[in-house]
Amino acid sequence: MGKCVCIIAEFRHGAFRRVTYEVASEGKRIADALGIGLWAVAAGSGVAEKAAELGRYGVEKVLVIDDPALENYLAEAYVPAVADAVAKCDPAAVILSASVDGKDLGARLAARLKAGLAQDCTQIVCENGKIKAKRPIFAGKCFGWCEWAEGALPIVSCRPNVMDCLAPMEDKKAEVEKVQVSVADLRSKVKSIDLDTSGKVELTEAEIIVSGGRGMKGPENYALLEDMAKVLGAAVGASRAAVDSGWRPHADQVGQTGKVVNPNLYIAVGISGAIQHLAGMGSSKFIVAINKDAEAPIFSKADYGVVEDLFTFVPALTEEVRKLKSSCS
Ligand SMILES: Cc1cc2nc3c(=O)[nH]c(=O)nc-3n(C[C@H](O)[C@H](O)[C@H](O)COP(=O)(O)OP(=O)(O)OC[C@H]3O[C@@H](n4cnc5c(N)ncnc54)[C@H](O)[C@@H]3O)c2cc1C
Repeated sequence: MGKCVCIIAEFRHGAFRRVTYEVASEGKRIADALGIGLWAVAAGSGVAEKAAELGRYGVEKVLVIDDPALENYLAEAYVPAVADAVAKCDPAAVILSASVDGKDLGARLAARLKAGLAQDCTQIVCENGKIKAKRPIFAGKCFGWCEWAEGALPIVSCRPNVMDCLAPMEDKKAEVEKVQVSVADLRSKVKSIDLDTSGKVELTEAEIIVSGGRGMKGPENYALLEDMAKVLGAAVGASRAAVDSGWRPHADQVGQTGKVVNPNLYIAVGISGAIQHLAGMGSSKFIVAINKDAEAPIFSKADYGVVEDLFTFVPALTEEVRKLKSSCS
């Protein structure tokens, strides 16, 4: 067996992404079950200064690759550097995030390290010293358990916002070791990234999502959902029907060909609940559906269903929440 569980940290714009703490927490649970330590590989620009803080989630040692060329994820720059650092760790398992970058990196690492990859997992267990990972298959219609052949290195990417974070141990710091890797002679570089500066909550990191479908009837009616989202502190999502109609940007699409989200609360408004939509939000912790058709398939997935015209119900609900919030403040 390898000497540690190795997680790959995701560092962007001067900070670790929240999913890194989820991955570290999961890594710690698995490392404890295997009776080995938890290490991390952290690549990025300026990551060396922040790496020790991963100790708060149980990471003992961080191998750091700090280079200005790693400011943004670029496979050509990241993959060889991270693969070398992971190999130095001699891991029993590698865990990373199933974010957009994490999925790309995980697949390329698996090829380089001749490892077996289970992508977008929602659970990892360790039974009798063997790792098993649960992942959605057939667009989320069912789940399968992956096991690895004797001697094969497991690489597991974890779906964001599913694994529980450990309570941070504020006084713990990880040992940091800088790895010297040359990230020169790249054939491509990221010249700029158009960040959404509207202050909107990113869908994949949102705790609450209010999502609208074809039942919204037109782009102007999304003001109802924006209003509700503002009161709830939520992000606004959309079905593909709404995106294909040009009512919402593709970045808002939830589903098989959109984003996979796992908020604590998902409110589906005027969305029928097609299998491709459920593939993107079916593992939300709590689902509320608002639809005027009592037979809509979304109700079979919802914890609470409201059979109502959304144009009457949504403003009334928003108003009630607003009143409740102001009476509490
Ligand atoms: C390969 C492939 C990939 C796909 N990927 C995705 C994906 O990523 N995401 C996705 O969402 N879809 C995806 N789809 C499309 C999917 O199959 C559905 O067509 C789509 O999800 C339907 O969107 P909808 O629920 O908004 O629209 P509809 O199915 O038309 O449902 C609209 C709902 O609104 C309700 N409604 C109407 N008026 C009101 C009202 N006044 N008050 C309350 N309720 C009302 C209706 O009762 C109905 O249930 C994909 C399809 C394919 C083939």
